[in-house]
Amino acid sequence: QRKEWAKLKNEKTVTMDSHQVELGGNIGTPQDVKGVLENGGEAVGLYRTEFLYMGRSQLPTEEEQFQAYKTVLESMEGKPVVVRTLDIGGDKELPYLDLPKEMNPFLGFRAIRLCLSMQDMFRTQLRALLRASTYGNLKIMFPMIATIDEYHQAKSILFEEKKQLQETGIQVSNNIEIGIMVEIPSTAVMADVFAKEVDFFSIGTNDLIQYTLAADRMNERVSYLYQPYNPAILRLIKNVIDAAHTHGKWVGMCGEMAGDEVAIPILLGLGLDEFSMSATSILKARSQISMLSRSDMKTIAEKVLTMQSSEEVQAFIKSTVLNR
Ligand code: PEP
Ligand code: MG
Repeated sequence: QRKEWAKLKNEKTVTMDSHQVELGGNIGTPQDVKGVLENGGEAVGLYRTEFLYMGRSQLPTEEEQFQAYKTVLESMEGKPVVVRTLDIGGDKELPYLDLPKEMNPFLGFRAIRLCLSMQDMFRTQLRALLRASTYGNLKIMFPMIATIDEYHQAKSILFEEKKQLQETGIQVSNNIEIGIMVEIPSTAVMADVFAKEVDFFSIGTNDLIQYTLAADRMNERVSYLYQPYNPAILRLIKNVIDAAHTHGKWVGMCGEMAGDEVAIPILLGLGLDEFSMSATSILKARSQISMLSRSDMKTIAEKVLTMQSSEEVQAFIKSTVLNR
């Protein structure tokens, strides 16, 4: 099978009825780009920049970050690279920030909340990204956006830094797309409002599932409630995709669900434009998609949206699409 998949390395990702989607890889470090390219990735759909900040004793400098972002952009040779700004907090701690312990870290001071409050740190990262933007096809994405106001704030800080850099004679690309992670239910529900203002969405199902079903993604005892195929999740995803398309924007997914063989047929049917997954899943997903029909998956997706439970959806996809 691996051998058959390898033939698809330099192919586009196209369904039987000629509908094209993009398959990207998720990375944590510049070294991970190699794996994405070797596995036929068409983009980096998520660069988790947290790893630049973790496992050390102080914040990375602007120069260090610039070098990392530049390396990733150059190695991707003009292919899209979605860089997510710092998403620390929750399960990812930075001891040197010396933040107080929280009762509910996943509901607490994390990601964009922390960045909008600790602005020096945020601005340093944004400057490094803006400076690197001329080396490839950069897209900047803000994590954990819960309200439109957070998006406005983050975007205006980004534009302030861009203006300042340009005033000092530093080149910045004028084609940087700016998007958000949709991983909080409020944002998925209000997707039509966000869609008017962002360039793209990327659905973060790892968090969206835990917040929608109120089931901690790290807690074994409630893992039975962590249900990617729950129609509640599928309906939220549909709402996000429809809102984006109404406003002419593209939608990706960078949570684990994007590389899942049960979810892929449904996501294809719902109209997802970009799937970003671990590099080792890309060729398998391309092979699966090449054997599906978009129009059949549309019918399948409509059907699962009316179902009652995750189990029902999973059994239906397994028997009708995966034939087992
Ligand atoms: C997600 O929440 O789906 C996501 C991709 O982000 P992370 O797993 O880094 O929280
Ligand atoms: Mg997340």
